[in-house]
Amino acid sequence: MRKKIIIIIIGILVGLVSLLIIRWPASPIGTNAENIGMNATYHEQQGYEQFVKQLPQQTWNKMDLSHPFYMDKGGLHRVIRDCEAYITVSELLVNTEETEEENQKEPIEEPQPQEQRKQIALTFDDGPNDKSTVQILNVLQKHDVKATFFVLGINVVKHPEIVKQAAQQGHEIASHTWSHKNLTKLTPAQMHEEIDRASNAIFEAIGQYPTAYRPPYGAIDENVRNEIKVNSVLWNIDTMDWKHKTPAKTLESVKLHAKDRSVILMHDIHQETADALDAVIQYLKQENYEFVTIDELYQ
Ligand SMILES: [Zn+2]
Repeated sequence: MRKKIIIIIIGILVGLVSLLIIRWPASPIGTNAENIGMNATYHEQQGYEQFVKQLPQQTWNKMDLSHPFYMDKGGLHRVIRDCEAYITVSELLVNTEETEEENQKEPIEEPQPQEQRKQIALTFDDGPNDKSTVQILNVLQKHDVKATFFVLGINVVKHPEIVKQAAQQGHEIASHTWSHKNLTKLTPAQMHEEIDRASNAIFEAIGQYPTAYRPPYGAIDENVRNEIKVNSVLWNIDTMDWKHKTPAKTLESVKLHAKDRSVILMHDIHQETADALDAVIQYLKQENYEFVTIDELYQ
């Protein structure tokens, strides 16, 4: 009689264990399977990666995430064969409204990186003067566009008020040296003089030292770099405005070459450049460019 009862109990136990095994068919797990119970919020759309991000740090450490795993019970029933661990989502905290809200937000938020505006820097060399530079400042102000002026020290001391006006309107004042000499042909002492005199003249005019300079003729070499520690800035697009002196050609050059993060070289001492600027800005705005100063571009 006792034996019979024991056999019946064993039978029931075996039956229960078999049932359990059969009820968990989605568990293709080896002996090293790990069952991690947790509370989790899970949105199907966010997918596996998002879910993993939500795991408490402890769990991260506990699991080797290089091994595939799947979630069970209300979670993601993605059965990965030969996986070594699975997660039981013991309590789903999904709030349906929240999920819907998030789903609605996603299409609005997602395009933003794609629509991130291209940046472009307008730069003007060799000024200032008291005519075309002033016209350029007015056009920039009209379009609420910021630019960078690489000024010559010798012109800064002639028109400090224009440099000041440019700075007050939010433009960057950078250095183009004191007197436009080819730095690669100078002694170190002469190089420093060209840079320092211009920097001091700029400081006199606007109370701030320039953080960048553009070597005249774009002429720079190792010697210059070793001597002058101020950031040197060249350009990607040379409009050749000083040569052709034709507004339409300046615009054409911008149209042909403008791309994200371009630095456009123009010269504010030429009337034709001032006359070209309105169309140049209109074109770039239409192409969805954001105008930045050199400082902002290389931030
Ligand atoms: Zn120049």
